[in-house]
Amino acid sequence: MAELETFRMLIGGKPSDAASGRTFETQNPFTGAPWATVPDCGPDDVDTAVAAARTALDGEWGAMTPFARAACLRRLGDLITENAEALARTEVNDSGKLYREMIGQLSGLGGWYHYYAGIAPTIEGRQIPAPNPNYLVYTRKEPVGVVAAITPWNSPLLLMTWKVAPALAAGCTIVVKPSEHSPASTLKWAELIEKAGIPAGVVNVVTTNDRDTAAHLAGHPGVDKVAFTGSTATGRSIAKAAAANLNKVTLELGGKSPQVVFPDADLESAANGVIAGVFAATGQTCMAGSRLIVHADVHDELVRLIAERAATIALGDPNAEDTEMGPVANGPQYEKVLGYLETAKAEGNTIAYGGAAESGLGGYFVQPTVITGVTPESTVYREEVFGPVLAALTFTDEDEAVKLANDTPYGLAGAVWTKDVHRAHRVAGRIRAGTVWINAYRVVAPSVPFGGFGHSGLGRENGVAAVEEYLENKSVWVELSGGTRDPFTLG
Ligand code: NAD
Repeated sequence: MAELETFRMLIGGKPSDAASGRTFETQNPFTGAPWATVPDCGPDDVDTAVAAARTALDGEWGAMTPFARAACLRRLGDLITENAEALARTEVNDSGKLYREMIGQLSGLGGWYHYYAGIAPTIEGRQIPAPNPNYLVYTRKEPVGVVAAITPWNSPLLLMTWKVAPALAAGCTIVVKPSEHSPASTLKWAELIEKAGIPAGVVNVVTTNDRDTAAHLAGHPGVDKVAFTGSTATGRSIAKAAAANLNKVTLELGGKSPQVVFPDADLESAANGVIAGVFAATGQTCMAGSRLIVHADVHDELVRLIAERAATIALGDPNAEDTEMGPVANGPQYEKVLGYLETAKAEGNTIAYGGAAESGLGGYFVQPTVITGVTPESTVYREEVFGPVLAALTFTDEDEAVKLANDTPYGLAGAVWTKDVHRAHRVAGRIRAGTVWINAYRVVAPSVPFGGFGHSGLGRENGVAAVEEYLENKSVWVELSGGTRDPFTLG
């Protein structure tokens, strides 16, 4: 058996093992075998990391100008680009995602750091008209403080960057805790922090296989803000922990995003967009377009096109160039997806394509699956599967389509497929979701805010909006006359 790679945490600028010396193994979902060991830290290590972040905030980092912070961000972006291949391979080993997707993500990831490097020196307060001429009033934007970033196993470095880059631009310091299912790439990324010239303690990374230790970080009294991506259930418990400390929180949670297809849509293009929305990344994305809401007149034709393309999807080794769909990322997730397929069958839904595990490839493979004949009450239509499973139903008029699209507690994303420009914008405006694509799906950029309505989350990542999530507003009043005033009245 090949020797396992070993990774270490970053605490206070030092490569660190858990104080207890404990480690855990991380599994490659394609081979099913462990491939790396990482530290299994405990609450004491989390305390050390939070204290290091506080010291850095009160020390060198807090005293740095935004221009100097921007230079650090720019160098980190460049280092990520230089190391994109190694980082992408680590993500593939850990999560089973396609190399072709991860190298694309990692090659573009530096752009996020460059974008926020550009924003850092533009963070400014305002001068505000005073209620009387004796005062000058202005606002300052100050960093929220120490941030805890807790990330999931799908696209660990991308989703971490959506937190780290704006937080550093704002002047915060940070403790990152990646998922126990895919911790290695974040530890590899942490090796670049010192090379980027970022002072010790500004960025700390801890890894643990113990969710109580993760909860210890989320509820830590030394943390000022928690930024989280993951399941709605965990998001809720993180929000409770943050509320107990009256901390700020950003939550990017699940979704059950609608793909609304009108009869005048270019069906080839819509089919392609539906495939991108639900089968890319093996459906394991928060923004998966997993509900197909299609006009009755074009339902059969669209389902035929999607099923035909699904039949040609190349499943296999995520490192191979021609693979289009890799395995599901871990054992529990695999069981969960197969459970949903059984539920769909038990509820009388129709499997138009797929519907089972793909045996013979090893690893956790599930067939791309198209389910028709669902109702708004069907489990696969209501719940986030987080796998390659599409649930389709029909509508006959625009109001019904909008009602179906909004019939979900989630509101992360959605798409409208039509050639009618009036209808496209009208329906985009009526869908209650943080992102709506028109005749497109699964496009993101550093400059475009992303986040959810309803149970899909709180706050926004990306864009200028994201930096605001890491800033406090301070109002400063300056007395100009040098005189005194009646001390017993409100000025
Ligand atoms: P999760 O929400 O349980 O875990 C996400 C992160 O939170 C991990 O780092 C985990 O260690 C940490 N965590 C878990 N419990 C915690 C707690 N009490 N306090 C603080 N941190 C805690 O997600 P998962 O187990 O990795 O996946 C479960 C389901 O979540 C998936 O099946 C999928 O439906 C959903 N999910 C959604 C997204 C998304 O992008 N929206 C991402 C991953 C998973």
